[in-house]
Amino acid sequence: MDQASIDALRTAAVPMQMHIINGQSVPASDGQQMEVLSPLNGQRLTMVAKGTKADMDAAIAAARAAFEDRRWAGQPPAARKKVLLRWADLVEAHALELAVLGVRDNGTEIGMALKAEPGSAAATIRYYAEAIDKNYGEIAPTQEGFLGLIHKEPVGVVGAIIPWNFPLMIGAWKLAPALAMGNSVVLKPAETASLSLMRLVELAHEAGLPAGVLNAVTGEGPVVGEAMALSMDVDVLVFTGSGATGRRLLTYAAQSNLKRVYLELGGKSPNIVFADAPDLAEAAKVTAFGIFRNAGQVCVAGSRLLVEASIHDDFVAEVARIAEAMKVGDPLDLSTAIGAVNSDSQLRQNLQFVRAAVDEGGTLASGGSQLLQGTGGYFMAPTIVTGVAPKATLAQKEVFGPVLAVTSFEDEADAVRLANDSIYGLAGGVWTSNLSRAHRMIGAVRTGVMHVNTYGGPDMTVPLGGVGQSGNGHDKSLHALDKYTNLKTAWIKL
Ligand code: NAD
Repeated sequence: MDQASIDALRTAAVPMQMHIINGQSVPASDGQQMEVLSPLNGQRLTMVAKGTKADMDAAIAAARAAFEDRRWAGQPPAARKKVLLRWADLVEAHALELAVLGVRDNGTEIGMALKAEPGSAAATIRYYAEAIDKNYGEIAPTQEGFLGLIHKEPVGVVGAIIPWNFPLMIGAWKLAPALAMGNSVVLKPAETASLSLMRLVELAHEAGLPAGVLNAVTGEGPVVGEAMALSMDVDVLVFTGSGATGRRLLTYAAQSNLKRVYLELGGKSPNIVFADAPDLAEAAKVTAFGIFRNAGQVCVAGSRLLVEASIHDDFVAEVARIAEAMKVGDPLDLSTAIGAVNSDSQLRQNLQFVRAAVDEGGTLASGGSQLLQGTGGYFMAPTIVTGVAPKATLAQKEVFGPVLAVTSFEDEADAVRLANDSIYGLAGGVWTSNLSRAHRMIGAVRTGVMHVNTYGGPDMTVPLGGVGQSGNGHDKSLHALDKYTNLKTAWIKL
């Protein structure tokens, strides 16, 4: 992708975004809109419909009607597959437009956005499209005279609540398997990153998805998200976002129809570097990118660097050298390594975490400040704090920003103890040449994903999910289909 094509789109007018209900663009029922500020310059990018409970109820009703008359679930698998494959092709054909729109809305550096957003969304949709006609029920090995069949059925109406850090990628992780199973969906994008996701929904309709099967309502989480979660007519709720919201969703499910709730929450992932890592220079580079890309707004970010004491000083110096060379700034410039923080409030919160870390005895080894204030955008230097005590705020709380907490360890047992001293368990990494140690660490560190001698980038073939307060359920891989499936037993006397 060349810079000129990106620049041609960087100031394109963005029309006001309405909801998409029953295949139609509709305004909020009370006509209200909310402002979308671009993190690139703090200026208004456009307006979006500020949804009401009535809007969410209308979207859920449309999804229910589409499910009940089987306009989607009732189509032959090959026909549904064709629609999803066409959708993936359209996403690819509009990749640049989607990526630039998304970057103007959420601030991710364009190089990464192109791969991780439309690139990943197209791959995800294609993966689940291909699964549609290869996903069989089962025949149980039961006693003679009886036949036990296990049917796989769609659950009905799926509600999906999406965060702002990777709206297309995370959106596709939920929409594609839900639709592949024949469900209807109601989508609630994040307040500060809805535009590219709404465009993804439009492209689904262009690809031939019947009206009402996929509906999307923009607006505030505590209004439309809450209405979705409290609905008596949503069968499964899938969510990626913060633990605080996840907790509320479980309560809402309990207060309403006991809908199944799958939560993909935050992390404080330990990236553990032993002195016997095969290539310490590579480890330092990947460590820096593993926390600082997308300005640290990555759920699996290796935000805790645990480094063996004997190499601590040299290794941290190398990570700092790489961090300081990473270009922070205009996310639409292909040479930018770290784009904008998503919102002003997120930036203030990041800076507050750094101040608290120093107050609690940490040493600021690099960064720590806001950058490029004259642009009006939300930029922050990649930040490294060393000497972070295991119980310090920075070791325990997710920042969701470009801030690396460094703690040294003495031996393997010490590393495992530190790694597991967390309420989270999303991802982790271990760098070692010792194969036995690598396997011991995979087993001992309590996370949903462990990287060995790399960090980040597992593809669609493997699941992503957390343990502990990082959530339940999995996105990606064939296992994700389970969330959108009901098992029905047929017990037949022969
Ligand atoms: P958030 O919880 O504030 O918002 C996420 C979504 O929930 C938004 O769409 C928001 O509008 C909605 N929401 C907010 N309040 C709600 C309510 N009361 N009822 C219903 N919906 C509500 O999270 P965020 O700040 O947008 O996202 C960042 C978080 O997401 C981080 O903690 C990050 O680690 C996590 N995350 C996890 C994964 C993963 O796969 N595990 C991936 C990406 C991000």
